[in-house]
Order: sequence, then C-alpha cells, then structure tokens
Amino acid sequence: LGRHKDDSRPTHFEYNGVRFGQDNLNIFAGLCAVDTREHVELMLKALHAHGQVCTRMGAYKPRTSPYSFQGHGKACLPYVFELAGKYGIKVIAMEVTHESHIEEIREALDATGNATGVMLQIGTRNTQNFELLKIVGRQQDFPVLLKRGFGITLDESLNAAEYLASEGNRKVVFGLRGMKTNMGDPHRNFVDFAHVPVVKRLTRMPVCIDPSHSVGSRGADPDGILDIQHAVAQGVIAGANMVLVDFHPAPAKALVDGPQALTLEELPGFLEDVAIAREAY
Ligand code: PEP
Repeated sequence: LGRHKDDSRPTHFEYNGVRFGQDNLNIFAGLCAVDTREHVELMLKALHAHGQVCTRMGAYKPRTSPYSFQGHGKACLPYVFELAGKYGIKVIAMEVTHESHIEEIREALDATGNATGVMLQIGTRNTQNFELLKIVGRQQDFPVLLKRGFGITLDESLNAAEYLASEGNRKVVFGLRGMKTNMGDPHRNFVDFAHVPVVKRLTRMPVCIDPSHSVGSRGADPDGILDIQHAVAQGVIAGANMVLVDFHPAPAKALVDGPQALTLEELPGFLEDVAIAREAY
C-alpha cells in the first residue's frame, strides 16, 4: 500500500457501487453501537432523506470495561441489513474483532440478498492484532477500514495496513482517530488530522477521519460550534477522503458513547459543513 516514486498503481477502489479514493470523499454517519431496531431505522431513514448511501453501525463493540454493553453481535445483523436495503445504504462500516464475526456478517448478508455491503473495521485496539489482520487480509470480498493504533507510531500503523495487503486485500482505508498522550488533553484523544496529507503522501490509501472518537465530547466554542465540527472541518480541509462520525436519534439513550453523538436534527448542518470544508480543500 506504500507509495513509491514511479508508482502508477491506483489510489482508489470501488465497492458495491461506491468509490473510495484519495481524490474523493465519503461520509459514514451512523450509530456507534446498534441498540434498538427503532434507532437503526430512524438513523437510516434520516441518512436516506439526505442522500447518504454509507453509514457506520457497530454490532461487535470492544469495550474497556467487561461490564459495559458489548454490542448485540450477530443478533442485530438481520434487521440492520434489512433496513439498510430498505433505505438504499450501500456500505456499512462495522468493526470485527474475531474471524467468527466475518462469517456471521457474510451469512447475514447472504440471507438478506446482499443489497448492502460491509466495510470491515479494525479498531484501534486491534491495529497490531496480526492474526486478525491476516484473516481480514484474506477476505478479498470486503474492503477494510483500519484504524490507526492510538499508542504506536504512524509507521507501525502503516505496517499494520501492509499485513492486510500482504494477504491480498488492497481495498484498505486508513483511519485517523486521535492519539493517547499524557499531556492532560481537553479531548479524549489528541486530534491527529494534520496527518491526513502525510498518509496520502506516503501511501495509496484513502484516509478517513473519526472526529467523534478523537474529540470524545460535545464541547463547544462561545459561538456554539462544537469541537467535533471544528475537527471535521480541519480534517476535510486537510484532504480527508472519508468521515466516520457518530450520530444518534436520542443520544441520552445511547448505550455507547452518547456524549459524543450528534443528533439527527444536526445532520443537515453537518453535511453542509463538510461540503463547505471540502470546497475549501
Ligand atoms: C469505533 O469506531 O466504534 C471505535 C471503537 O473506534 P476506535 O477503534 O478508533 O476506538
């Protein structure tokens, strides 16, 4: 996936009719974690109403505490895929942490007629889970969103992407989601979106930004502009090719990461902000 001087290999790929490239932008707004069928439907209906064909939906949630909600897993896949088909969603970013999750996703997609597709997400806690990387690298029918490891060097994370490619899967998007530091950051993680152009220069991968998991809260400036909105604008102006962002119809009821979720009422303004920032890129 690394870029070489005389390299004419493509910096884009297609999946289920959606183009992912270093020269375009896809928005993946959606639920951090699937909780109820009703919330999935409200989310997808809103996306459809605003012309969106991609989303994020977490079914398998790796959590810091074993006592926190771990996601509904395979139980929610049938209704997630059915509703995605109903609302014209073409690609769902969904984290997997184990080989069995990929099989469950494939089976559920087959059962619902494959109208929608899944981008397998490897979370920051698994960036160096080399066996998982090799397994996902062999699933050439799925694209992959590889999150940067939050406590390792950029080079180490880029090498993790090479694990996917070395097993044959070159449909990889690289995700920036903030870094852990010991500086007492005001945000959950130190926002690393200045690395967007760096990753695009060093590799052929489209680059995703995840403002929700970087910032981790709904802090706002005196004008009421959320830190998340500022981070999105910075990342998109820096040339990001994908925005992964948490929304929820009722953030107070979200079982995971409610405090960072934007509301459905905020969706049109968010999409407009992204379009303006993209224009400025
Ligand atoms: C997520 O996107 O749901 C997530 C948990 O992200 P990360 O792995 O970056 O923390």
